[in-house]
Amino acid sequence: MVGVYLMKIPKFLLVFGEKIKLRIKELPYGVAAQYDIDRKIITISPIHETDNGLLHSLLHEAGHALFYRVSINQAVSYETHEFIVNNYATMLLENFDIKPKLKK
Ligand SMILES: [Zn+2]
Repeated sequence: MVGVYLMKIPKFLLVFGEKIKLRIKELPYGVAAQYDIDRKIITISPIHETDNGLLHSLLHEAGHALFYRVSINQAVSYETHEFIVNNYATMLLENFDIKPKLKK
């Protein structure tokens, strides 16, 4: 099922000046989103049915991009990394109205 997005998504994020491409594209079953470290691309699956779900995936993957950008991945295990980005995304959505900046 393809979600209907009210929210517009930018073509890229900036993580301390580094461009991270952003795209909506089919992913393998069960994968909501992923960050390709080598190509610096965040891919969000079109399965999301709400803006909130989409934003959670976006914040989660942006967290991964940030962690790699500042090399925290060298200091914490992948499980810890995953735990932090996921819970931080949940807390942000719980407390803030978030929408991505539409950069040109
Ligand atoms: Zn993750």
